[in-house]
Amino acid sequence: MKAKKIQNKPGKIFIISGPSGSGKTTLLSRLIQDKKIGKLLAKSRSVTTRPRRSGEKQGKDYFFVTKDEFRRLVKAKKILEWTRYLGYYYGTPKELVEKQLKRGKHLGFCLDLKGARVLKKIYPHNTVTVFVLPPSLNVLKARIEGRCRETDKKEITQRLRMAKREILSAAQFNYRILNRSLRVALKELRKIFLKESSA
Ligand code: ADP
Ligand code: 5GP
Repeated sequence: MKAKKIQNKPGKIFIISGPSGSGKTTLLSRLIQDKKIGKLLAKSRSVTTRPRRSGEKQGKDYFFVTKDEFRRLVKAKKILEWTRYLGYYYGTPKELVEKQLKRGKHLGFCLDLKGARVLKKIYPHNTVTVFVLPPSLNVLKARIEGRCRETDKKEITQRLRMAKREILSAAQFNYRILNRSLRVALKELRKIFLKESSA
């Protein structure tokens, strides 16, 4: 009997970017909860040195590691790309991405502009970038405060300062979504995913 060749089309990389609190994580996890889409799309999980927020789970939201462990992973070339945000390190695990893409599974990422640029450079033909915009800076502030009561005032101010800069890069992304109503934003993201994943 002839062995059957498995030739999967490599999966696509969907990068969701936008300021902290704009709703990237919420939108991506809701998209994956959709029965049809959940079979096709998985969420990439990053490694970070940022402390865990209440409600976040080790290995589900992030792989929380120490600075030494992060450095060791970078040195061992186990991190595809990484960034520093407000003094903490964040990186994309290489093995996880390569394995999923080979299997033909699409992968969703929540990354900053630097991460989006690097992945687009590594995977120029199968990367789609989406920027999530908040309705206003006041709403963004309220969402950051509402997400985690323990986030200190200084960090909220720093995240908002970063947000103003990050919003200026929105034009560099393939798509932009305004996240005023979660329902409407999710509908738009779903439409983008279905169009791009079958392209
Ligand atoms: P990000 O991943 O971009 O930092 P999150 O997904 O953690 O942002 O969202 C920040 C907070 O805002 C969360 O508490 C989330 O539930 C809330 N949120 C997200 N989108 C909306 C929306 N459209 N309306 C109201 N609250 C929202
Ligand atoms: P947060 O602390 O709000 O979870 O994340 C801070 C910022 O780091 C967000 O813009 C988020 O998208 C980005 N980020 C999270 N993980 C990674 C990663 O692995 N690589 C890059 N480049 N950015 C990341």
